[in-house]
Amino acid sequence: MILIILVGFDLIILNSIGYKRRKEIEEIKRVIKSIRKNKIEREDEIKLSKYLTNLEGNIKAMFHRTQEDLQRMGKLAHARSEFLGYVSHELRTPIFTIQGYLETLLNGAIDDPNVNKTFLNKAMLHSEHLNSLLNDLIDISMIESGMMSLSFGYFNLYLFLSEITDRIKQPENKQNVEIILSDFNKDLEVYADKEKLKQVLNNLIGNAIKYTSEGYIEISVTEKTKNAIIKIKDTGIGIADEDQNRIFERFYRTERERQSSVPGTGLGLSIVKHILEAHNSAISVKSTVNKGSEFSFKLRKH
Ligand code: ADP
Repeated sequence: MILIILVGFDLIILNSIGYKRRKEIEEIKRVIKSIRKNKIEREDEIKLSKYLTNLEGNIKAMFHRTQEDLQRMGKLAHARSEFLGYVSHELRTPIFTIQGYLETLLNGAIDDPNVNKTFLNKAMLHSEHLNSLLNDLIDISMIESGMMSLSFGYFNLYLFLSEITDRIKQPENKQNVEIILSDFNKDLEVYADKEKLKQVLNNLIGNAIKYTSEGYIEISVTEKTKNAIIKIKDTGIGIADEDQNRIFERFYRTERERQSSVPGTGLGLSIVKHILEAHNSAISVKSTVNKGSEFSFKLRKH
């Protein structure tokens, strides 16, 4: 008799435990279904009974991570379509201009000795711009897709910089701009990818020349305990304070440059920034309008 009562009692307890578990499972199913159907917008809308607080915490954390992933994907999709928009716009401008000159030439200007050479030269100039734009775009896409492979090594900084400054052609309209490589420890060796570093310097020195009509461009190196600091200083038009943070964004050209005839893609400094980041370094700028600019970055030394 006692045994029957005990078994009955156990059965009642088991039944009530089973009932509780079923209710909890229903609760969990309901929450998961609401998440799946996008009915939950905020973490605090996820509520389970007090016995399931651990699981509630885990579901909230999972929900939070998924929301973050979705946001990141949304931003990426936006950045990608913005990038494509910019690229198409930037490509269209030189292509249309070249087409315009060629059409004018074909429509008769080719026989006009007063303009035919000028138009051909202009078409040539714009095709060069198109070419440098495409090269910059290839670089940017290699960098951003993580396909830029670097090959690091130690090399002599003085020889490297002298080769670059010796090879720089003095542009015809820049007779009043002197390019100076200041003296420094001629045995100093740095650790970097030589080719990529050449691209950085060509970009920075190229900009310095482009935006300076008179004075000098000075390349100097300061040696610290572990690093070498490389500076490219010019006496050019300078960069307004509000533009100084933005010039490293891709396609960013200041309003002044967009309105002017100075050629450029607005990609150079963005490439410089990426290459230096891959060297664990960062580019910084100091500049005063109408006085000049100074770009600098550090490299690990031997
Ligand atoms: P761009 O092809 O237009 O030169 P960059 O990315 O190299 O593109 O530079 C972005 C912008 O930063 C330029 O359009 C220009 O306004 C400004 N800039 C860069 N370097 C200098 C400099 N040395 N002096 C003045 N302005 C500069």
